[in-house]
Amino acid sequence: MFDNLTERLSRTLKNVSGRGRLTEDNIKETLREVRMALLEADVALPVVREFVKRVKEAAVGIEVSKSLTPGQEFIKIVQKELEAVMGESNSALDLTCQPPAVVLMAGLQGAGKTTSVGKLGKMLCETEKKKVLVVSADVYRPAAIKQLETLANDVGIDFFPSTPDQKPVDIAKAAIEHGKLKFYDVVIVDTAGRLHVDGEMMDEIKDVHATINPVETLFVVDAMTGQDAANTAKAFNDALPLTGVVLTKVDGDARGGAALSVRHITGKPIKFLGVGEKTDALEPFHPDRVASRILGMGDMLSLIEDIERNVDKDKAEALAKKFKNKKGFDLQDFHDQLQQMKNMGGMMGMLDKLPGMSNLPEDVKDKVDDKMFVQMEAIINSMTLKERARPDLIKGSRKKRIAAGSGTQVQDVNRLLKQFTQMQKMMKKMQKGGMKNMMRNMKGMMPGGGMFPR
Ligand code: GDP
Ligand code: MG
Repeated sequence: MFDNLTERLSRTLKNVSGRGRLTEDNIKETLREVRMALLEADVALPVVREFVKRVKEAAVGIEVSKSLTPGQEFIKIVQKELEAVMGESNSALDLTCQPPAVVLMAGLQGAGKTTSVGKLGKMLCETEKKKVLVVSADVYRPAAIKQLETLANDVGIDFFPSTPDQKPVDIAKAAIEHGKLKFYDVVIVDTAGRLHVDGEMMDEIKDVHATINPVETLFVVDAMTGQDAANTAKAFNDALPLTGVVLTKVDGDARGGAALSVRHITGKPIKFLGVGEKTDALEPFHPDRVASRILGMGDMLSLIEDIERNVDKDKAEALAKKFKNKKGFDLQDFHDQLQQMKNMGGMMGMLDKLPGMSNLPEDVKDKVDDKMFVQMEAIINSMTLKERARPDLIKGSRKKRIAAGSGTQVQDVNRLLKQFTQMQKMMKKMQKGGMKNMMRNMKGMMPGGGMFPR
């Protein structure tokens, strides 16, 4: 996520380090490079101009505080202005109204509207305990309605049926009526993709909007379209009063131009980021966290939230208890850990959020292969419960049996056992040191640190 921009900026900002103090002269060159980095990231020109101007104004003449170097002071200013340009703080959905709260989704074809309906429904249901109903008013694309139905089933929220011969307005009205009768908290209305220049289609969605009067009208847009995302959002907003933007496919966006342009160009907040195809790959948008991510300082808060959300609470508690009872960490626990890591978007998903990780060379990143988790799990699956509890039993013939059972080689089994031993050591340390230690140790798990020697 935003890798190119992060790399450029961190290289640039390093250059300020070590110089005297922040004067117009000593930041001139860096500012020029920041400007280039933003333009390369496809940030819209008016945003770049305003941003550079504000950073300059904030920086020039500033007293560098004793505890910081000029470079650090400058980064602090850049960070603050990055936050400001993205909207200062998180804008959550505002669903306060007579229920059901209606959310209308709009956007171009393929932007990720339907996927986002599913993700958002799941999130509202799971984290806010809302009773959610979804409905599709996409009567144009074959199978669009079915797509939403399948998705709703997958994430366990209710789906209101519709058919392609109905009018979108009637579909939305019927769903909301049903929502009222059955005491739903939220009704999310999915719509067909459309271009803002298509008058007829825009009239249709304006009509739907006027009829159902949603509390939230979200524009869903693909981050990979860069500053175009901001421009189409603005064009839509001129026809349809938007309350916010969902930026999708951020996982594939190395540049960050959309994230940095949308707020300034449209005046509307980004409310969510879509960060993957899976149904839990939706994150509330926090400008401060994204700013630190862009600056390569990691995103500890998001990571911690991820951990809290995804780690299976019962298993985590069982594990904690086990520590207390001093029974120690066995292969079954290791197996559970692997599964939980997978739930958190795999190793790469986690590493992305750790400070400094964006500076890892690509070939090192490649070695942190999520497929390896699958293999590791398969190996443990081939062990008996007794072997999982007492790894010291696993010797020659058992190793051969396990390798055969999991479709791997004995050397793979050996590697897993070695990794397990390292994990076990780390767990012991964690018992003593808590989160801070864990973070330090996770870095130690990187290639070279020995966790995945290859
Ligand atoms: P719609 O036409 O706007 O309803 O778009 P869909 O929801 O059908 O999504 C179009 C494609 O984008 C699908 O293949 C989705 O899996 C994919 N997609 C949606 N959101 C994301 C995201 O945040 N990340 C990634 N990588 N893919 C996404
Ligand atoms: Mg769709």
